[in-house]
Amino acid sequence: MKTLKFKLYSHKRNRYLKRSINAAGVIYNHCIALHRRYYKMWGKHLSCTKLQSHIAKLRKHNPFWQSVGSQAVQDICQRIEKAYQLFFKYNKKGVRPPGFKKVKKYKSFTLKQAGYKFLGGNRVRIKNRVYQFWKSREIEGIVKTLTIKRTPLGELFMVVVVDNCPESEAQFTTGRIAGFDFGLKTFLTCSNGSLIESPQLFKQSLNAIKKASKQHSKKLKGSFNRERARKNLVRKYEDISNARRDWFWKLAHDLTNSFDVLCFETLNLKAMQRLWGRKISDLAFGEFLQILEWVAKKKGKQLIFVSQWYPSSKTCSNCGHVLEKLDLSIREWRCPSCQSVNGRDENAAKNICTVGASTVG
Ligand SMILES: [Zn+2]
Repeated sequence: MKTLKFKLYSHKRNRYLKRSINAAGVIYNHCIALHRRYYKMWGKHLSCTKLQSHIAKLRKHNPFWQSVGSQAVQDICQRIEKAYQLFFKYNKKGVRPPGFKKVKKYKSFTLKQAGYKFLGGNRVRIKNRVYQFWKSREIEGIVKTLTIKRTPLGELFMVVVVDNCPESEAQFTTGRIAGFDFGLKTFLTCSNGSLIESPQLFKQSLNAIKKASKQHSKKLKGSFNRERARKNLVRKYEDISNARRDWFWKLAHDLTNSFDVLCFETLNLKAMQRLWGRKISDLAFGEFLQILEWVAKKKGKQLIFVSQWYPSSKTCSNCGHVLEKLDLSIREWRCPSCQSVNGRDENAAKNICTVGASTVG
C-alpha cells in the first residue's frame, strides 16, 4: 500500500468538492445525533448497517446530501462505527465516543471503488465533473481509495491509496536512439526534427510573477498589505515551479516511451547564463535532466551525455565538415563542403545523437 498526494488545480469548479466536504460534515453530525438518540430510546448501540440504510433513505430526498457520493456516505458511517468500537473497547482507558464536528472544519470525504475515474494525464473525474491535478508522479497499481482533503488555507488535495504497485515499470524497447539540443526559444530540438516548445503557460506565469513582485515592492514595509503581497508572490512562484515540474515529468515519460537511448550535451550552466542571461534559470534544464534521469533509470532506458566541448553546432551533421566559427545569431547555415542546409538546433541534435550512439556499449 502506498499513499500518493496531489494538489488540485485551483478552479471555480472546486466549489463542488468543497460543497461535498461540507455536506459530508453535515451527514457526519447527523449520524452522531442519530446514534445518541437511538441509544436514549432503545438503550443499545445503533448498528452500522441500520445507520447506513437509514441515511441512504434520507439521502434520496436531499439534493445537498446527494453531493456526497453513496460510497463516501458509507465511509462516514464506517468511520463512526470504528470510533464507537474503539470507545467500547477502551472507554476505561479514557477513549471518548465520537462527537460532533464543526462543518467548516470538516476536512475530507473518501471514495472507494466508485464515484471517480482517472481519465489519463492529470485529469480525474469525480461525480461527473473533471478536475485537474499537479501530477508529480505516476499513479501505478490498483487504486484503493481516493480522498479529497481541504486544508485550512482552503486548498484541495487528492490523496490516493494504491495497492500492488509494480516494482518498476514494464520495460520495453523501441530500438530508437535520439539526440537533443536545449535551446532558449525551443526547449528541446530532437535529432528526428521534432521540436518541443516550452508551454505558453510559463510565459503567462512569468508575467504574473512580475506583476505580483511589483505589487509587493509598492507596499509599505512592515504593513499587513505587504505581507499579503509577499504571500501572493510566493504562491505565484510556487505555481510556476509546480506547473513546470508537472510538465517535466510528463515530457520525461513521453521521451523515455519513444526512445531507448537519449543523448544530451553536458550542461555548462554558467556559460549558458553568460550567453543567454537570467532566463536560463527560468528554463530549469538541470531540474528537467534530474527528473529524466530518474524516469529513464526506472524504465531501463539509457541517458548519454556528450562533452560540452564537442562542436555540436559547428559540425555538419551530413558530412562532418567543421566550421571555423558560427555566430550565435545564425539559425541556419549551408555547409561549404556538401552544400546541405543545416538548421542550427536540429543539426546540433543530430551530432549529439551521432556522438552518443558511438559511445553506446
Ligand atoms: Zn556538410
